[in-house]
Amino acid sequence: MDTHAVWTAVLGELELAVSRASFTTWFRNTGITRFENGEIVIFVPNAFTKAYIEKKYHQPILHCLERITGKPVRRIEYHIESGIRNHESREVVLVTASPSASLGANNPLLANFHDVGPAPNKYGLNSKYIFETFIVGKANELAHAAAQAIATRPGEAYNPLFVYGGVGLGKTHLLQAVGNAILSQNNQKKVLYVTIDTFTNDFIHAVREGRAKDVKDLYRAVDVLIVDDIQFISGKERTQEEFFHTFNELHQQRKQIIISSDRPPKAIAGIEDRLRSRMEWGMIVDIAQPDIETRVAILDARCRERGFPIPLHILQTVATIIQTNVRELEGALNKIIAYHQLKNTEPTEESVRSLLSSIESASIRSSITPKQVVNTVSEFYGITIEAVVGQSREKRFAMPRQVIMFLMRKELSMSFPAIGHELGGRDHTTAMHAYSKVERGAENDLKLRQEIEMIKQRMYINSAQR
Ligand code: ADP
Ligand code: MG
Repeated sequence: MDTHAVWTAVLGELELAVSRASFTTWFRNTGITRFENGEIVIFVPNAFTKAYIEKKYHQPILHCLERITGKPVRRIEYHIESGIRNHESREVVLVTASPSASLGANNPLLANFHDVGPAPNKYGLNSKYIFETFIVGKANELAHAAAQAIATRPGEAYNPLFVYGGVGLGKTHLLQAVGNAILSQNNQKKVLYVTIDTFTNDFIHAVREGRAKDVKDLYRAVDVLIVDDIQFISGKERTQEEFFHTFNELHQQRKQIIISSDRPPKAIAGIEDRLRSRMEWGMIVDIAQPDIETRVAILDARCRERGFPIPLHILQTVATIIQTNVRELEGALNKIIAYHQLKNTEPTEESVRSLLSSIESASIRSSITPKQVVNTVSEFYGITIEAVVGQSREKRFAMPRQVIMFLMRKELSMSFPAIGHELGGRDHTTAMHAYSKVERGAENDLKLRQEIEMIKQRMYINSAQR
């Protein structure tokens, strides 16, 4: 059996079972190296990931493997591979192994900075995110056009380019496509792609190790700086300060800056005005949910890439069931392909419907927004939104607030920092505490349990009616 296909099928299932953040954090750059007589070797990129997967995901992986191969699995070993593999193309992109694999040391930027000396010109780009594989439709045509303009004339067209839109709609793909296109025209260009979290961590580590100036210089020496998910900068004053100066320096030198966010600059709470205004200097474009034609086109392209064409009327069915975002479309397609490849059958309307029936609810679920959680809970407990996100510690406000944080985590799979942010800029530890408090509380308290159920029902009914 092709180990690559097996692992792809396992990933397809895991992707649907765990949150998006967990999935990308823990399963990126993993794969199977050996699969013999029920003994399996899985490679992982570093010790941190190994420990976490062993602890949290060993059982689910084992079950998936047994279900998919139809054979018992006797043993799974997790090996650390000393290169980050690009799973799709099977090439080694960056060598960043570090014996003290802490999160910071795994950062490719810092690792290379230590080991290689002069700044290499390519970081963090994934070769599969290119313009050629990006499908253009009404929802993203403006963003696409702006991105292409920048790829042809970096630093001259719009600076910065600010792309915003919901999760899984192709922001990262588009941003990286610009980086890849610029490099393919001139591989001497220094293109740096980071998430704002990487940016933040780089500075935290650099300051701790007395190398702040080195990291500053490194960021300011690039030709193109791509910063993904900037919304997470809110409330982080030091990071804002650093980013502000980096931005100014690069902008002054006419170096291209590209930024993505889940919302427009105006809607990012907790950032300084001077930074916000800079984000608005260039061009702001949004990416919306793809229409049905685009969804079908994306599915069709993906099937062909995978060498598993599926008739259009069946793809129509998939695109009708999954409406939220492209990531979910891809997850659904992975599941369909894996299933039919293993069973060696052709997909039919029925088989596709039954495979996707479990995702349907998840699809509704992910269309619920954090705002809807806040609204539904406040309405349920008869308090105002101001009070529930406000500072009062009175129980009648504090309890609903904790329920909100609990639901954001449980139903929306949001990260704790993001939850804290939604609730008036609270710390992530507050959100973690609230989550476990409500979880424990609901175990023992029937009334609370019923209340949560009723709130959930209202939330899903409201969302389905939209
Ligand atoms: P975001 O960063 O907005 O959350 P991503 O860029 O990670 O979204 O996209 C999620 C997945 O969907 C990726 O695998 C990406 O390649 C794919 N995708 C998104 N939009 C498109 C598109 N227009 N054409 C092709 N693939 C897309
Ligand atoms: Mg993204």
